[in-house]
Amino acid sequence: MIPQINAFPIPYQVIKTDTMNKTQQNPVYIVVTGGAGYIGSHTCKALSAAGYTPVVVDNLVSGHKDAVRWGPFEQGDVHDQGFLRQVFKTYNPIAVIHFAAFIEVGESVSNPAKYFENNVGGSLALLSAMTECGIKNIVFSSTCAVYGEPQTVPIQETNPRHPLNPYGKTKFMVELMLEDFSKAYGMNYVALRYFNACGADPSAEIGERHDPETHLIPRALMAAAGKAEGLHLFGDDYDTPDGTCVRDYIHVNDLAQAHIKGVEYLSGGGKSVCLNLGTGQGTSVKQVIAAVENVTGKTLDVTIHPRREGDAPILVAQPLKVQETLGFSTQWNDVGQIVASAWAFHKKDWDEN
Ligand code: NAD
Ligand code: UDP
Repeated sequence: MIPQINAFPIPYQVIKTDTMNKTQQNPVYIVVTGGAGYIGSHTCKALSAAGYTPVVVDNLVSGHKDAVRWGPFEQGDVHDQGFLRQVFKTYNPIAVIHFAAFIEVGESVSNPAKYFENNVGGSLALLSAMTECGIKNIVFSSTCAVYGEPQTVPIQETNPRHPLNPYGKTKFMVELMLEDFSKAYGMNYVALRYFNACGADPSAEIGERHDPETHLIPRALMAAAGKAEGLHLFGDDYDTPDGTCVRDYIHVNDLAQAHIKGVEYLSGGGKSVCLNLGTGQGTSVKQVIAAVENVTGKTLDVTIHPRREGDAPILVAQPLKVQETLGFSTQWNDVGQIVASAWAFHKKDWDEN
């Protein structure tokens, strides 16, 4: 059985910062590292719509300058503590949202040094600069990869963390650093363990533009559009209902809203916490392919390949803790709609470029 969890509403418990005077004369700044990237740019748009002013800190190693549209852009590297201190002094942000990282699991296996250096070293520099400048609140991009192959699904936050690859290990190490910075220096954090981020803003003005692109939904859309020679399906012999891996696909705009709630939770005095961010609903690779074929009207040329190293058969979130803690639940719960939002963005992007 593919695990299904029925989300139910939880009373809103987060102390909101509506009382803040979020006007153009009195902007409330939030520093967003990696804000020129996929999830970062969607979060900046959502922050702006909620009345905050996102300050993007990004070195553009994989981000896009044209995705920075909703506040100041401070181009630089999170390793550069002098630069960060200057940014913090200039804007005095109420919080940092930390997306900046390398994200490719496969590359992290072949080149772990690159990942530990950027994801761990960069985070350490950021946390140190924050501590020095008295910036206490951080929302951190963690991942379900910290769990490795879970013993039980749906996955609760109490599941042991046994990451299978260097990428997951870097995120686990930053979670450990956050715990210690919290104890020693009074840092407050929300570590959000995303499941599979996907989709695009319905305006289609921003979306997922990774290079190389390795994720299933954009790869399948590339195949549908003739931008890739078919789709490789990695493993159809798993112990799952249709033999293919099951994942929990969460729309990027839902992720963005959870970050805002994370900031407001910390601003309201909430305690440091790690939270799963998923829908609680499992979708197999074959179900994603069917959704892509339905949305695009194309039949994909799918070839079966061996299992991809490090792929867990089923990764599905138990999303109750984030509902209870932040009053957050996902709005995009239909994979077809999620795929349609990504397709609208990609079609526009491919037409224009
Ligand atoms: P992305 O590559 O689109 O964005 C990352 C951004 O960080 C880029 O704009 C890049 O230029 C910037 N960056 C990287 N290193 C930097 C540095 N040293 N200094 C300054 N900027 C730097 O990635 P994304 O998909 O938006 O992911 C954002 C975060 O979410 C990452 O931390 C990732 O690990 C995490 N995450 C992503 C997913 C997913 O499915 N995409 C799932 C779980 C967790
Ligand atoms: N996948 C696939 N073909 C692809 C890309 C991904 O079969 O071209 C599978 C992958 O093996 C996994 C699922 O799709 O089972 C989701 O992979 P993705 O890379 O999108 O996210 P991950 O779960 O690795 O974070």
